[in-house]
Amino acid sequence: MAQDQYDAIVVGARCAGSPTAMLLAQKGYRVLVVDRATFPSDTLSTHIVHPPGVAALERWGLLGRLAATGCPPIDTYTFDFGPFTLSGAPGTDDSPVAYCPRRTVLDKLLVDAASEAGAEVREEFTVEEVVTENDRVIGVRGHSKGGRPVNEHAQVVVGADGRNSFVARAVGPEQYNEKPQLLSGNYAYWSGLPVDGRFEVYIRPGRGWGAAPTHDDLTLVVAGWPFAESDANKGDVEGNYLEMFEMAPDFADRIRAAKRESRFAGTAVPNFFRRPFGPGWALVGDAGYNKDFITAQGIADAFRDAELCANALHESFSGARSFDVAMGDYQSTRDDHVLPMFEFTCQLATLEPPPPEMQQLLGAVNGNQEAMDGFARVNAGVTSPAEFFSDENVGRIFAAAG
Ligand SMILES: Cc1cc2nc3c(=O)[nH]c(=O)nc-3n(C[C@H](O)[C@H](O)[C@H](O)COP(=O)(O)OP(=O)(O)OC[C@H]3O[C@@H](n4cnc5c(N)ncnc54)[C@H](O)[C@@H]3O)c2cc1C
Repeated sequence: MAQDQYDAIVVGARCAGSPTAMLLAQKGYRVLVVDRATFPSDTLSTHIVHPPGVAALERWGLLGRLAATGCPPIDTYTFDFGPFTLSGAPGTDDSPVAYCPRRTVLDKLLVDAASEAGAEVREEFTVEEVVTENDRVIGVRGHSKGGRPVNEHAQVVVGADGRNSFVARAVGPEQYNEKPQLLSGNYAYWSGLPVDGRFEVYIRPGRGWGAAPTHDDLTLVVAGWPFAESDANKGDVEGNYLEMFEMAPDFADRIRAAKRESRFAGTAVPNFFRRPFGPGWALVGDAGYNKDFITAQGIADAFRDAELCANALHESFSGARSFDVAMGDYQSTRDDHVLPMFEFTCQLATLEPPPPEMQQLLGAVNGNQEAMDGFARVNAGVTSPAEFFSDENVGRIFAAAG
């Protein structure tokens, strides 16, 4: 077997890859993390980081750095359904706020943290082959910009290379819970559209949009329509984007008075889980589990994966547990945790009006501050939808509504 130069090679250095590399390096492992991008750089994504993601940054000692970049905290989520608006606090006492940091800022902060922890960071390095020996991944082959191909070897190659993961394609993991693209989203940045610490969400039949404050006094406004309308609407993204706001006249007035400061960006994504490990390889972040962005869970999920996967690899490297047992636990912990949110997300992403029972429940939540906070926390990924929509909790909400 080729001599391992590294304990782990991590392919992809954004929300999943850099924290995985950082956490492994902090435990003393030899880690190489590569990305074909340079940092700071943007990526196609909006960037609400719900309180659980913020809590991870706090655990890693990075929250102060983020706050110091001038990114405004978000302490209130509002859900405007037309007839009424639910307004609640998304977090907990320990982690009360969300942030919406530009990926240029967040991802650079994460890459720097990996490097400071002792990981070797190679930017502008493209992996073009996953190297195997006797059906086991033993490294990668890739090249720096303009450079000759080189082989690097490790005990484990971690694919943190996004939903179109090259590593996943090379190792061909089982894929399950698949659902097609459901929603087409487009976003742009606006000045002169203050939201005062709120993440504003608007839900209308067949349409939905959200506005959140980010760096440089800008407001991110992301808007979606059903994927089935993508082809019909792609000829006039701006017209269709602006037209939907007329369904909420106050918001339409506010955005008419604002100025768009960026081009539109947008896409639609498929929904799937992948088995996140096999001989000599692992997957974290979108590479292992991808879902529609309507509930903005991806960054916090990537952070959680990074911790679970780094801990499992540590157990395996240190001999505490076998690779298969430790990584099997990573997979089942991930899946058990995210499955209710995955179903909730895919349902929301259809943009179909809530069924009558749900409309009744939302009506009962309206005005009940504890229940509105609970609803905000579901959307923030703090409380599981399974818990909030349990018979017991729903009974409590209806009882309180009289
Ligand atoms: C439109 C949209 C809106 C979204 N909004 C939100 C939101 O508001 N909040 C939220 O939490 N999530 C959101 N998400 C999801 C979020 O973007 C992802 O979950 C998150 O970026 C996943 O991080 P990652 O590190 O797994 O992958 P990525 O961020 O995709 O990073 C993968 C990295 O791998 C690198 N790479 C890929 N292939 C190779 C290769 N062969 N060699 C070297 N490097 C390679 C890429 O250059 C890239 O830097 C949104 C997604 C979309 C598409």
